[in-house]
Amino acid sequence: MDRRDILGGGLTLVTIALAGSGRAAAKPGVELPDDARFMEQALAEASRAAFPFGAVIVKEGAIIARGHNRTGVDRDPTAHGEMVAVRNCLKEHGPEALVGATVYTSGEPCCMCMGAMVWCGVSRVVYAASLAQLSTKVDQINLSAEDVASKAPFAPVDIAGGVLADKAIALFK
Ligand SMILES: [Zn+2]
Repeated sequence: MDRRDILGGGLTLVTIALAGSGRAAAKPGVELPDDARFMEQALAEASRAAFPFGAVIVKEGAIIARGHNRTGVDRDPTAHGEMVAVRNCLKEHGPEALVGATVYTSGEPCCMCMGAMVWCGVSRVVYAASLAQLSTKVDQINLSAEDVASKAPFAPVDIAGGVLADKAIALFK
């Protein structure tokens, strides 16, 4: 695993190295031109939730599903922003749509959400606030998204973190 901080702004590039897996490694987690624009939409979702977490799912340049944390309103502890977005996507488009999709999420996915995205074949995850940053606001299971992804070499996921992280953290009052 190769982790580098660049730009001094908290943007973290993460490369999942699949050493010895016999497959090509996932591409480095570079920030792409549209990332900030889609992250703004994930943050807009987050701003609608009591626990400010939100996500959007993008396929071929378009948002195909949205979700925000509904753990309180639905009385469902698994209703994290990413899980709600994934379920909305499944309902509206079926599982094929998630294969190769990108998930933009206001916070680094927990192991439950990251596991769900691996099983769904999501190929790229972009998050704003890191687990370490979120841990200063709410309880977090201390297992990073890249740790989860690195244990699933059958489904390489490209991960980029730190996109609009300050804006995501500012949503916590
Ligand atoms: Zn989660």
